[in-house]
Amino acid sequence: MAKHIVVIPGDGIGKEVTDGAVEVLKKADDIYHMDLSYEWKDAGGTAYDKYGVPLPEDTVDACRKADAILFGAVGGDQWDHLEPALRPEKAILGLRKSLGLYVNLRPVKIADSMIEYSPLKPEIAKGTDIMIVRELVGGIYFGKRCESEIVDGAEQAWDVEKYSVPEVERITRFAMEAAKKRHGHVTSVDKSNVLASSRLWRRTVIKVQEEEYPDIRLDHMYVDNCAQQFAIHPSFFDVVVTSNMFGDILSDEAAVLSGSVGMLPSASIGEETSLYEPIHGSAPDIAGKGIANPIATVLSAAMMLRYSLNEDKAAEAIEKAVNETLEDGFRTGDIYRDGMKKVNGEGMTEAIIDHLK
Ligand code: NAD
Repeated sequence: MAKHIVVIPGDGIGKEVTDGAVEVLKKADDIYHMDLSYEWKDAGGTAYDKYGVPLPEDTVDACRKADAILFGAVGGDQWDHLEPALRPEKAILGLRKSLGLYVNLRPVKIADSMIEYSPLKPEIAKGTDIMIVRELVGGIYFGKRCESEIVDGAEQAWDVEKYSVPEVERITRFAMEAAKKRHGHVTSVDKSNVLASSRLWRRTVIKVQEEEYPDIRLDHMYVDNCAQQFAIHPSFFDVVVTSNMFGDILSDEAAVLSGSVGMLPSASIGEETSLYEPIHGSAPDIAGKGIANPIATVLSAAMMLRYSLNEDKAAEAIEKAVNETLEDGFRTGDIYRDGMKKVNGEGMTEAIIDHLK
């Protein structure tokens, strides 16, 4: 059955990197006969310039009907003066909300050939392969808030962190299923020594594991300890499941471990459809120069094949091709070191496609 992908290049380097990823997907389709079809839509500053809004209804409608969405990046200085509701970044939040994307998945894997790029010592970085499962539509980012009020003569502001049992059950099941396909180990991260919402989180995670996933190894970590363990013992982790705010902070910390933002993919998963995007932004400083590293977007496309389109073999083949390309010394400028084969974005895409053959 044909599988329909909506491609949203967005702004800056978004077009270059999504073009590269689609080329790789087309090659994989030739080999694995997946019957992929594509439709391009606007979002971000580019959409604002054309339609006066960062997320046109037409884009949202197409996304709702798609089997999966491949997203580049949005943003740029030329739109920074706009009021918050019209800024390019609103497109991402709008898509998460209107498509009900409730899980953010961020794999952080340090390949042996890339270990020298990690800020960690090689013996600590070796073997790092973490999947962060972040709850994306609940918690303090979506709780009640007060911008300003006066109490006893003093101005104060507040935000509410709240989780329900069904919300925690849903994300826990997702993490447990991900662990089944990996190394069978889940670490749930909370702050249950202080927060009531974290105590409910922990109780619920334990219940789901005991009743539905007895074969998965589960442990718990306070968020402050987890932040330290990422830096001193990252290879301990397999799947990490956590709340929206803790996941936001921890996934950015984990991203740094690999040494280049041009390498890391992500997925935002919903019940109906899911969106796949590199973790980097629109990189206005290098946009249009053809030097952007397409690997994060190519690996996002591989995640799309695995999590949305049930094409595990093609996903594995793309990941293997990326690894071998790096092992063979191909490097875009952001990850270049003396003695390596320097290529631009297109050159990197071509090298990945060659390795896929
Ligand atoms: P950025 O990720 O765009 O760039 C940070 C640095 O990394 C820059 O030096 C850039 O050149 C480099 N870089 C990023 N991706 C690269 C790639 N694929 N290859 C080579 N080098 C790469 O972050 P920023 O500079 O903080 O933000 C720029 C714009 O992107 C802002 O408008 C921001 O709001 C937006 N942004 C968008 C998203 C998104 O669309 N999901 C995420 C983060 C930032």
